Amino acid sequence: MTTIGNGSGTQELAGKRALVTGGSRGIGAAVVRQLLDAGAEVLTTARSATNTVPEGAAFVEADVRTRAGAEALAAAAQEVLGGVDVLVHNAGGAQPYKDASAIPDEEWQEALDLNYLASVRLDALLAPGMRERRSGVIMHISSAAVLTPVGPFLHYTAAKAALENYSKGLALELAPFGVRVNTVTPGRVATPGGEATREQWARLDVAPGRTSADATVPLGRDGRPDDIAHAVLFLASDRASWLTASNLVVDGGEFPRG
Ligand code: NDP
Repeated sequence: MTTIGNGSGTQELAGKRALVTGGSRGIGAAVVRQLLDAGAEVLTTARSATNTVPEGAAFVEADVRTRAGAEALAAAAQEVLGGVDVLVHNAGGAQPYKDASAIPDEEWQEALDLNYLASVRLDALLAPGMRERRSGVIMHISSAAVLTPVGPFLHYTAAKAALENYSKGLALELAPFGVRVNTVTPGRVATPGGEATREQWARLDVAPGRTSADATVPLGRDGRPDDIAHAVLFLASDRASWLTASNLVVDGGEFPRG
């Protein structure tokens, strides 16, 4: 397994214990690699292990969509790491439907469980320890799709929008205890999950949106998992010690804000 590195050549997260959900591929795997490279001890999780789980990370199988999964994961984090200093909620996604009315009830619930409530539940289990230690960093991974919600993905974007709002509120609650909470919002990133979803969307033959990033992304390309991981690493580090309740949009300039 190649280590990509954070480019800083430092061990700025030495001694930190990090938990990353969905670290077996895509953005999560890049985050795990960069945290390891910065000296952190990392535990990651997915529903099943693959050979793409970065070498050097501890891995435990868990499904974050359920309360039982969150509890099992929190217990594993306690056992393996002895506590969590950096928590990255990365697992997420949803399949597209023809339009909003075609999204089944259970898919709305599933999207909420995976993209929103998974974070709420795990934070409720792990944030109290951070509050007690008066330090810790939590990051929620949202999606730039929130900025232009479309019918086929409303279950997903609505859940991510809720996540962003919740993240801000949690940040304000935990700030007096020295715990920072931020959102990272990726634009279109080339990952196994992202590509599979876009193929499904194209097959639905409804307003598929753009197929190439070149025309719409000012920086002229789709994102790479490491583009997002760099932002996560920065927020995890002391270089971001005055940053909380923020939403860092990493999208090549596609959705100008601020
Ligand atoms: P991938 O589908 O490539 O990877 C998702 C990871 O999460 C895998 O490790 C997967 O493993 C794990 N995972 C999925 N469901 C669960 C579950 N229920 N419990 C535990 N682990 C789970 O996703 P990306 O890297 O593309 O996306 C990562 C995050 O970035 C997501 O939150 C996504 O919404 C967001 N994002 C992605 C964009 C993109 O273009 N790629 C754009 C904007 C936001 P397994 O399947 O084995 O469980």
